[in-house]
Amino acid sequence: MPAESVVKKSERGRKIVASLRRAHPDARLALTFRSPFELLVALILAAQCTDQKVNEVTGVLFGKYRAPEDFLGVPLAELEADIRPTGFFRQKAKAIRACCQALLDRHAGEVPARLDALLSLPGVGRKTANILRGNAFGEPALGVDTHVLRLSQRLGLSRNTDPDKVEADLTRILPRAHWIRFCHLMQFHGRRVCLARAPKCGTCTIAVLCPYPHKTTTQSQRHGRPAPRPVWFRRRAGARPARRSR
Ligand code: SF4
Repeated sequence: MPAESVVKKSERGRKIVASLRRAHPDARLALTFRSPFELLVALILAAQCTDQKVNEVTGVLFGKYRAPEDFLGVPLAELEADIRPTGFFRQKAKAIRACCQALLDRHAGEVPARLDALLSLPGVGRKTANILRGNAFGEPALGVDTHVLRLSQRLGLSRNTDPDKVEADLTRILPRAHWIRFCHLMQFHGRRVCLARAPKCGTCTIAVLCPYPHKTTTQSQRHGRPAPRPVWFRRRAGARPARRSR
């Protein structure tokens, strides 16, 4: 069975985006922010924390801290207490302050839009930089977070496990105009339907575009037949061959 070509994978990627747009018309970044600086702080707080909890904390935090100077103008212990509910508050408080200091030293207190400038900020990696560029500046960018990584693999759009390599794979098969929306759709579909441990394949609107459309379908539900796989899906080496349908 031939491997799926880049062209076919690209076609499938576009269909996935189109279908998920209809399924999740409300898909957007779940973090609440009013400026690139607020999104930068929210992204630092989002490490190992839910977006909902971050929004609860920043709803109060951004009333008290409006600019980099504000985060540097209070005792460290006060900032730690203000962000404590997000977890890992000591590391996060230090990271926020280091970032604020770098913004003041190198960018007049403004968050830069360029990728290289963002990556030079303390604690800012490709995921954070790309989410910022896409959502705060409207630049085409693929921020590979946990949902984008997991669903890209599950949908057979990338075989890599390294987020940077997954990003490179996605840039080859998705048009630039779809990059930001694709990430939002992966996040929403990953939270609502394609759950990590129990994906709801039976109600999934992109099952016909997925290599694993019967991940949660039992043998009896399939009337004793093995799960059909799309013709483009190449079975991994060493996997047991499927039984023939009668
Ligand atoms: S068919 Fe199942 S595994 Fe595939 S994307 Fe849908 S929920 Fe996820």
